[in-house]
Amino acid sequence: ELPPIEGDFYHLGHTLTDDQRALQLKVRTFMENEVKPLVNRYWLKGEFPFEIIPRLAELNVCGVTYEGYGCPHLPFLMEGILAMEMARVDASIATFFGVQSGLAMGSIYLLGSEAQKQEWLPRMQKLQTIGAFGLTEPEVGSGAAGGLTTTAKRQGDGWVLNGQKKWIGNATFADVIIIWAKDLDDGQVKGFLLRKDTPGLDVEKIEDKMALRIVQNGLITLRSCVVQESDRLQNANTFKDTAKVLRMTRAGVAWEAVGCARGAYESALAYTRQRKQFGRPIASFQLIQNHLVEMLSNLTAMQTMVFRLSQLQDEGKLTDEHASLAKVFCTLRTRDIVSRAREVMGGNGILLQYDVARFVADAEAIYSYEGTKEINTLIVGRSITGSSAFV
Ligand code: FAD
Repeated sequence: ELPPIEGDFYHLGHTLTDDQRALQLKVRTFMENEVKPLVNRYWLKGEFPFEIIPRLAELNVCGVTYEGYGCPHLPFLMEGILAMEMARVDASIATFFGVQSGLAMGSIYLLGSEAQKQEWLPRMQKLQTIGAFGLTEPEVGSGAAGGLTTTAKRQGDGWVLNGQKKWIGNATFADVIIIWAKDLDDGQVKGFLLRKDTPGLDVEKIEDKMALRIVQNGLITLRSCVVQESDRLQNANTFKDTAKVLRMTRAGVAWEAVGCARGAYESALAYTRQRKQFGRPIASFQLIQNHLVEMLSNLTAMQTMVFRLSQLQDEGKLTDEHASLAKVFCTLRTRDIVSRAREVMGGNGILLQYDVARFVADAEAIYSYEGTKEINTLIVGRSITGSSAFV
């Protein structure tokens, strides 16, 4: 049975089935016992703890919602719960998992041919094959929908790719990178399964990040990389298809923000109960309680929101604007929660060993990736006003 956790104030976890709660507990136990002891060391070094991959694979949760190919075929609500549990301990590991299970496998699951799904998904599900998702570029981030400069030119049985991709998570060690490129003939965005050893592919690690330091982000250069037509995602014909993947994964990012906020809140609450000043636990001071309650109210609102978001997803009713609203709200509130958590911990709030400092830093990356606050706000704004602010 899951121990009572302060961060689930409205007992949303109690709406899950026994099997779902058992899986939540299994992932929490793995994160607490096997990941938590490692993360600060790896975060500091800016390296990835590859030793956790076989154990993560044993949990058999990768490709959470997909049907077939060895995937668990669980509800989207469970995908969210698991993302939250991972981020509650470490947002980098949650991001690694989100790229693998969501962005990379999701592109193949939603947009690949049957042969492509058969080739890639079973091995990716077992984390024997690692994937990455290459959309954004050094000069094109928010404007990726119409502005990609990476090109694909049809040549005989294949395609020739040229260009650069920036920020691509897992890229330094991925076996396959989904590359989104503009077809020079019809001007539409298409997706390609670019294999690791393709001549002309160069991946440089992006160094010295101040957030998500465990995630290995790459700067990719493609110099006349040849990809066979059989490695073009057969059902990705325009950017609207790419957006189907992002809609699904953006909901997951909202859950990651909830996890990051919850980890910070729970650490801060425990700390304030134990830390004494003026002869009393600091948790007894009114000003500290005000911070804690502000954190809890935002956290509870966020959790309630993402629960409903995932229910919509499970009902097949999720829209871009639903996912964007949750992504904006949760990442914005997370920034507030982690900064209050850091504040109530005084000096120790900036020490890695107390965990909250890492949540403070990592919240900054979650805030920006998979669509910034501005871009997701404008997606919602367009929907409610009927008037697009995008050029
Ligand atoms: P820009 O687009 O240059 O934006 C700069 C600022 O201008 C932002 O505040 C933005 O909101 C604002 N802005 C832009 N346009 C408008 C507008 N129309 N109106 C108002 N304001 C506007 N990408 C991948 O493809 N794969 C990955 O695996 C991946 N992982 C990432 C991991 C990390 C840690 C980070 C930081 C990024 C990752 N990204 C990845 C890229 C990420 O999606 C982009 O950073 C993000 O979309 C923003 O793009 P940008 O950084 O180029 O900022």
